[in-house]
Amino acid sequence: ESNLVYEMLCDEVERKGMEKEVQIIRTGCFGFCEKGPILKILPDNTFYTQVKPVDAKEIIDEHIIKGRRVYRLLYTDPETEEHVPDSKHMGFYKKQLRIALRNCGTVDPENIDESIARDAYQALGKVLTEYTPRQTIDLVKRSGLRGRGGAGFPTGLKWEIAARNDASQKYVVCNADEGDPGAFMDRSILEGDPHSILEAMAICGYCIGATKGVVYIRAEYPLAIKRLKIAIAQAREYGLLGDQIFGTGFSFDIQLRYGAGAFVCGEETALIHSMEGKRGEPSNKPPFPAQSGYMGKPTNVNNVETLANIPVIILKGAEWFSSIGTERSKGTKVFALAGKINNVGLIEVPMGITLREIIYEIGGGIKNGKKFKAVQTGGPSGGCLTEKHLDTPIDYESLTAAGSMMGSGGMIVLDEDDCMVSVAKFYLGFIVEESCGKCAPCRIGNKRLHETLGRITDGKGMQEDIEKLRNLGSVIKDTSLCGLGQTSPNPVLSTLDNFMDEYLEHVHDKK
Ligand code: SF4
Repeated sequence: ESNLVYEMLCDEVERKGMEKEVQIIRTGCFGFCEKGPILKILPDNTFYTQVKPVDAKEIIDEHIIKGRRVYRLLYTDPETEEHVPDSKHMGFYKKQLRIALRNCGTVDPENIDESIARDAYQALGKVLTEYTPRQTIDLVKRSGLRGRGGAGFPTGLKWEIAARNDASQKYVVCNADEGDPGAFMDRSILEGDPHSILEAMAICGYCIGATKGVVYIRAEYPLAIKRLKIAIAQAREYGLLGDQIFGTGFSFDIQLRYGAGAFVCGEETALIHSMEGKRGEPSNKPPFPAQSGYMGKPTNVNNVETLANIPVIILKGAEWFSSIGTERSKGTKVFALAGKINNVGLIEVPMGITLREIIYEIGGGIKNGKKFKAVQTGGPSGGCLTEKHLDTPIDYESLTAAGSMMGSGGMIVLDEDDCMVSVAKFYLGFIVEESCGKCAPCRIGNKRLHETLGRITDGKGMQEDIEKLRNLGSVIKDTSLCGLGQTSPNPVLSTLDNFMDEYLEHVHDKK
């Protein structure tokens, strides 16, 4: 529908002969999916929501020509029932802090000039002309940035390890194989601000001594692929990728590789195998990719959101970034807020914010006035958090301590009508489909967990099945080869911990 709105606005402007005065620009996602399509009018920052193609004429006639806002298209605050003219005053945006998403919804991602006007490639110029690779790595280390793909490994340290390994060729890989159900953080960044990723990859290349970069992106993201291709071509044309960038001796170029949508290929060794044209299966570490990765060469793999933070950290400084967040989790995190929540969308919040603030202030509470039951964080191998966790500050450590994990940023809200045993079964079903099958605990164990859950939800389970779930879940966690298997029983274990009564309700020999 956004495309239709765009076309109708362009037609209207053309019909009125206003092409010189009015520019209609397509941007990336604003994040407020619940209220899309969104139209922002500059310079007065008016934020129109749920715009339809038929509204185009009125917007041009009233707002652009007569300077009068179209009130029925303004967001209405559900509490005060007042019209809110700009995004700054909306509950959805008030508590957000957009660092990785800074340019999404602001620039035309297919026009490099707009990104350059918003500081794109300045950080690359700065490190190439003012800092040594060592100094740049130190800066990233001091910032406290940790991998946003889920594991939370310190980014600067990862770069340092790759830099230490001498080799004639090294690689920088951007992991854009986003696979969690309901997650679209990486896709939005690539669609809305591809230059920030290209720039960060080049900075990483300079730091670790790599001249080649690869974006591994799932083929189901055609718009992100299209925009990346345009961005790479434009950056090459401007001399920002290729040989002797900024007239220095540093050369770096980027290619794309397409994934076929296997969840396990988000794991870095599986991703590298897939890039090499092999079966996408994880392998034992060591060797780590930083020692022997793509084509046997030292390779640094970072997730999209991690990279999106890099240029800002360079320009604003490590101390600025590390002043945001909690003691061990610095900066912000992007979450895809979905499920039974009023404001479904993509949000970026400072680490340390509570689940309550996210769900009730940014998310606007539970749909249809229902009661909150749980929130699933960390994707299919995350866990379900409950009412008692609502005031937990969100960071890597607290989420793990609460029985879930940060993951890449999926956040699915469940209400009083959801059956938690069925929720666990849904995620296990996903894992069974996506397990690569290389090791028995994950391949066979998860299948058995899924069958047992099925027996319970069908009303054919016994109490001993509940015990089996717990025992088998622990074995799978302890003995699987990669992170997928090691975390796969989390939805079962966390629902057993928090919703045992629901399991007991299903079994027919309950006491
Ligand atoms: Fe494959 Fe699962 Fe074993 Fe990982 S844990 S290697 S996904 S079978």
